[in-house]
Amino acid sequence: MNQNKILEYFSLLISHNLLGSSYLFIGNNSTIVKDVIKLINCKDNDLYCGQCWDCKKIEDLSHPDIFNVKPSPLSIKIESIRESIRFLSLKSFCLRRKVILLEEAESLSSEASSAFLKTLEEPPANSFIAICTSKLEGMLPTIISRCRKIFLPFYEGGVSQDYLIPQIRDFLRGVNVKFKNRREFAGFLWILIVIFRDKLVAQTALSNNRLLKNREYEIIPKLYNPAQIYYILKDILKIYGAYNSVNENLALNMIRLSMEK
Ligand SMILES: [Zn+2]
Repeated sequence: MNQNKILEYFSLLISHNLLGSSYLFIGNNSTIVKDVIKLINCKDNDLYCGQCWDCKKIEDLSHPDIFNVKPSPLSIKIESIRESIRFLSLKSFCLRRKVILLEEAESLSSEASSAFLKTLEEPPANSFIAICTSKLEGMLPTIISRCRKIFLPFYEGGVSQDYLIPQIRDFLRGVNVKFKNRREFAGFLWILIVIFRDKLVAQTALSNNRLLKNREYEIIPKLYNPAQIYYILKDILKIYGAYNSVNENLALNMIRLSMEK
């Protein structure tokens, strides 16, 4: 799954009028989030143009319809959240959706989180709240549950992580695998997610020819039924959301356990 797949997904939501208001983006790749905001608001018909005044202002976060919340310096304080809520209640300057972009959301203080809950539940019409975090485990469950979740692919500057496929095969065969660093571990989890997701799609009515030709999902044994794959996938996603802080061996054992259930 790459950046384009996420943009395609949002483009589909928009064309079917299904775009929600509150999204939690999990990962370390904030450029995708800005691109999603452009996609929602650019008047160009084909995704977004990147050239118009709106796109440029969104890119450098200086658009009058965007409110950017960041930790200052260590935590996001209740004052910033109150200010952002006030901002959302005002009429839009020109964008289709007024945007709150909340970065490093794991730094929300508990008062700030609580102050935000009502807005997340009943956001003003025509608003888009993008909450970003790379540390899902640091977020309050009440915030997580009120947002639709988007897992971003681990940012590797466009470098393919196919070299991790042999490690995936080893892992699935029960062989112990080691990683040089967190990035590699995150990349490994990400490929595993993609493989299981494709396997799930291939085994359900949603299957299409493009995915059936995908070579990678076939490395998963055929024994699993869709419900099992769904639960395994959920467990891997949970670990992926916390790849920065989990113990790698423990995490891999957890995945193996959920695969044996
Ligand atoms: Zn544009």
